[in-house]
Amino acid sequence: MATTGTMDLEGFKQAALSSIDEIVRYYENITERRVVSSVKPGYLRELIPSKPPVKGEQWEDIQKDIETKIMPDWLAEMFNLPDTYRSSGTTLGGGVIHGTASEAILTIMVAARDKYLREVTEGVPADRLDDAVAEARNRLVAFGSATTHSTAVMKARANGLTPFYLTASLGTTDCCAYDDFESIADVLHEVAPPGKGEVWVHVDAAYAGAALVCPEYHHFTSQFHRFHSFNMNLHKWLLTDFDCSVTFVQKRKHYIDAFSMTPPYLRNNYSESGLVTDYRDWQIPLGRRFRSLKVWFVIRTFGVKGLQEHVRKGIRHGDLFTHLVQDRSGAGLNDKNTLTEKVYTTINEEGRIYLTSTILDGGIYAIRFCLSTPFVDEVHVRDAFKELVETTERMLHT
Ligand SMILES: *Cc1c(COP(=O)(O)O)cnc(C)c1O
Repeated sequence: MATTGTMDLEGFKQAALSSIDEIVRYYENITERRVVSSVKPGYLRELIPSKPPVKGEQWEDIQKDIETKIMPDWLAEMFNLPDTYRSSGTTLGGGVIHGTASEAILTIMVAARDKYLREVTEGVPADRLDDAVAEARNRLVAFGSATTHSTAVMKARANGLTPFYLTASLGTTDCCAYDDFESIADVLHEVAPPGKGEVWVHVDAAYAGAALVCPEYHHFTSQFHRFHSFNMNLHKWLLTDFDCSVTFVQKRKHYIDAFSMTPPYLRNNYSESGLVTDYRDWQIPLGRRFRSLKVWFVIRTFGVKGLQEHVRKGIRHGDLFTHLVQDRSGAGLNDKNTLTEKVYTTINEEGRIYLTSTILDGGIYAIRFCLSTPFVDEVHVRDAFKELVETTERMLHT
């Protein structure tokens, strides 16, 4: 048997087995650990040599090619996306996996911008095209859903700007707010009708999109045929390791028109014949990770049912927490923001549970309580709530 680096196969097997033992031990004792690390930024620099090793240390894991074809279309089905979002749909849509939602949205915006500029400069003679594109590009403006209102579009236009893109939210990061998709589609139908120069609408469902595996949330996708693209992060609430953000478009042509480039060294008969999907044309880098493999493992391991149970359990815990809070809601406190922030900072410093915070509309300081791992049970929700109550009471009496 060939050896690789300093690790032969037996050594590799032992390393892998002991890693698994360690992972299992970690999860068995997870409640006894601090939730956040106690090290300071930069600590690692002191602990590692400043130069790379001279002698090879690495081992290679010889991995068999996995011949099975894995397509994000499985996900389109689970999320109940309209058929047009699939690669086999009538509009030639399709999905691609990016690392993060930010990357996905940036890529979509580039595709939307290119589409818009191509449409509004169609027919311009070649010798004036560069100037026409530059002129149109200077006026472009993109909207987020908080600013989505027909008057916003009108105002932008009155100021000589041209809206070309809008992100609609299906679950904002800080408090899971979602847009009224039907109204957005109706308003845009009026002020920027579908067709040339339309506004590209992208639905950002980075974290709440996981809930779309459950039929009880499928009504959210009922307006998606009126939008252009959609993304969600499997790595947030759908049991997949970071990073894994899936994006679907109704017309993959727009992606490819914006990103396609085929230098001679990447030419091959399969691509030229149009038989394969070159995902490099759907993203900024040329190379990409094989992320669909882990999605495939997750879906096969849990099954759609298992994923639904995971989401529903999270929602049950969220409901339980909401009820616990509502049952205790006290009135008459002055300066709630200061107290909330103090409670938040204290709990995180103590390190038994980890919370995040946000500032909501109207300047309300809020603590965010997020659960997404499969190891959370009702007892942890109740414990966390108890911690919040006890800390708040301590703060009130000091
Ligand atoms: C988390 C989140 C993002 C950012 O996700 P990344 O993958 O870290 O870029 C964007 N939008 C929403 C709604 C999110 O919840």
